[in-house]
Order: sequence, then C-alpha cells, then structure tokens
Amino acid sequence: MDPLSHLVQRLFASPNGELAIGGVAVSELAGRYGTPLFVYDRGVIEKKWELLRETLPSEFAIFYSVKANPNRTILRCLLEKGCGLEIASGGEFVQALDAGCSPERILFAGPGKTESELDLVLAGGIAEIHVESVREACRVASIAQSRGLRAGVALRVNPDGEAEGGAMRMGGRPSPFGVDEEQLDETLDRIFDLGSLDFRGIHLFAGTQILDPETLLNQYRKGLDIARRVAVRLGKPLRRVDFGGGLGIPYFPHEHELDMCKLQESLNTLLSSVRVQEAFAGTEFVVEPGRYLVGEAGVYVARINDIKISRGKKFLILDGGMNHHLAASGNLGQTIKRNYPIAVLNKLDQPATEVVDVVGPLCTPLDCLGRGVNLPRSGVGDLVGVFQSGAYARSASPLGFLSHPAPPEVWVERGQHRLIRRRGELTDYSRDQLIDKRSCDTSL
Ligand SMILES: *Cc1c(COP(=O)(O)O)cnc(C)c1O
Repeated sequence: MDPLSHLVQRLFASPNGELAIGGVAVSELAGRYGTPLFVYDRGVIEKKWELLRETLPSEFAIFYSVKANPNRTILRCLLEKGCGLEIASGGEFVQALDAGCSPERILFAGPGKTESELDLVLAGGIAEIHVESVREACRVASIAQSRGLRAGVALRVNPDGEAEGGAMRMGGRPSPFGVDEEQLDETLDRIFDLGSLDFRGIHLFAGTQILDPETLLNQYRKGLDIARRVAVRLGKPLRRVDFGGGLGIPYFPHEHELDMCKLQESLNTLLSSVRVQEAFAGTEFVVEPGRYLVGEAGVYVARINDIKISRGKKFLILDGGMNHHLAASGNLGQTIKRNYPIAVLNKLDQPATEVVDVVGPLCTPLDCLGRGVNLPRSGVGDLVGVFQSGAYARSASPLGFLSHPAPPEVWVERGQHRLIRRRGELTDYSRDQLIDKRSCDTSL
C-alpha cells in the first residue's frame, strides 16, 4: 500500500473515495465552513494520548507543549485526560488558564522571558519556571521576593556532546537554550543561593521530530546522569526531571511511526534500575510532547481555484498556501524540501495519473505546498488536503502575509463537528489580557 493510503487508513477513512474525518465527509465540512480550513479529529488525539500513556511508566507525567497548537479546544481535550501544559510565553499562560488549566499544572520554558511575563505567571501561581540563564533565575528571584512568595524553578541544561544517538547529535553545540553542562556546577551554586527560589529539578530538550526510540532513550539516559549529579549537589532527590518533547510522526515516505513497543520495553528496563536509586526517590519524570499528540489529528483543506500549464508544467492553484501552512511549503526549517502527504480528498480512490506542483495564491515562488506531486486528474473546485497538519501548521505560519483572512479551525468529535476558531480570528484570548501597560501605548 502506498504511504498516503496507509496514512488515511490508519487515522481516518475514505468511503466512496472521499476523505472522512472523524466520520464526517470532508465535502460537508468544506461546504459548511468554507475553504481553506483546518480540521482536527478528537479521536486521533485521544488515540495518540492513550498510546503514549500506555507506553510510559507510571512515574512519568505528560505536559503538552502548547506551541504545537494552542487552540483552546485541543488544550481542554488533553487537560481532561490528565495532561499538564508546557508554555513558552505569557500569551500561552493566559491561553492555558483560559482553557481551564490549574496553574499548578503549568511549566514555563523558553529563552528571553520578559519581566512582565515572569510577573504574570508568578502572580498567577505557576508551578514551575524553567530558567534558561543565571540572569533569568535572578529576575525570577527578585520578582518572587517582591511578591512575597517562593518561585518553583528548574534549570534547563544544554547537555555536552557525549550522548549521541545514531546520526543525530544530541548536544554539545552552542545553543540559546539552557545553560551548558560544562557550567552546571557554578550555575547551580548561584541558583541555590537565591532564597526566594524553590529549586525543583532540571529540564533537557535536545531535539525534535525523533523517530528512533534509541535516540530518545539516549536523551533520557543523559538526562538521568545529569539529574544524579544535580541531586548530589542539592543534597536531596529532585522533584522533577523533564526530558523535553521531540517524539516524532512520519511525514515523508521514508519515515516510519515511532516504535512505541520498543520505547516501552527500553523505558521499563531503564526505570527498573532508576526506581531503586536514592537520588530519584519520589522524582516525577516529565515528557512534554507537542507534535506527537496533535500533529496527526489535523488536515489542512483547500480548494483548487485555478489550474495552469506553464511551459509543460502543471500547477494546481489553491485558495490557501504558505500563509496558512508554512511548514508544508518547506520554509519552516527543512533542510531538504520534501512534500508533506498531499491528496485530492474527493478522489482518493482514483489512480495518480499526473505530476503537478500544488501552489497557494501568494505572489511569491516560496508559496508552493507540493513539488512534483503524483495526483489523480483534478479540476477546479476539487478539494486538496495536506495531512499531518495538526502541529506547527496554522500557529507557525505567517497569517498576516498578503492579508488573506486566517483560516478557521473545525473540531470533529464522533461524527459531530463545530467551529472552534472563526475565519480571521487570530487568538482565543483577548489582547487586553496580555499587553504590558508599562511598555506599550495601547491607544495607538
Ligand atoms: C517546542 C517544545 C516542545 C515540543 O516539542 P515537540 O517536538 O513538538 O514534541 C517541548 N519542550 C520545549 C521546551 C519546547 O520548546
């Protein structure tokens, strides 16, 4: 079976050759909400959640990385399952609270956190700030002191080059994230001296889109080594060790799903030795995946608006493109430009007979969602879908570029569908909840 048919069969269905998302025909969704649009299937998110939960030992907690897709309905769905949230900005904090998340279940990581963001989350009772430098730790300490509270912090560590997994180098490079492992001891001593901080653990995150369980395991082993060192220096076990996200999903024909059985086996072996060690008594381990949980649940759906042949090459011109889906256009940091899984959604049962370029409506050659794609013969009005579009798709796109309205988001849940973000709407929360009154003239 070709990779695309396999993907459709694994996650969705295609009765009569038309894609059904969560049991709803895509033409019904496109007709009801208009195109282009993003559609998310709750069933797929639940399936991924359950698979991950079953794979991880009971000492592991899962915190969803909000930046993968911040839609409130997605956050609520995961919160209901017992997930926590990992945020990377003040806006994501507001969004997390708005979705009903207790601040006790929020971790804040990311470089360059501003004073006003730190103040916002500390005033809101956040569980843990993952500090990325000594200066940031001092900032957190001084805000906590002036507010008369103790701030829960963990230190993000940029590991040295020792832990290598297959072809992927896990660390050892210069990085704006965390403090270098080489400077760990003196950094810890300075942080332990800050009285208004409650030091709870460490955080490592070395790579994204990892499909090899052994590479993940190397990252976790390295994390445990560093955690052991930190626990000794602290003189007691760490409350939390955060291994970061990075669990991958298959985008391209040569990629395969992450082998969760193998991951489970290796993790169980690892944990059986860790469980009995004094340094990890009562420690909670954390993973914070984004892509793995929601990436496969989303499909970007656009309509063919024009078809042209230029000097022998055929172009399908859609009503949306890289302005809605930068990653699929290859402009969000892909070294080799490869096509996302792309299909004519109302002709899934028809054989691919032509090779086309699938482009968006922007006046730039960058706006190409698929190069040399094999597709069935299609016409104006047909629906084209880009799969694996639930994470780092809409929210990682230049939605303002060329001033087309931002695409709506639709939620499908057991055969029912509803709008979860209107066309043109950028965020769920109001701008006023966030703007720093001191640094910004809101009357402009
Ligand atoms: C982006 C990010 C994640 C999520 O990464 P995925 O590859 O989507 O799992 C987790 N933790 C931090 C700190 C991040 O910045």
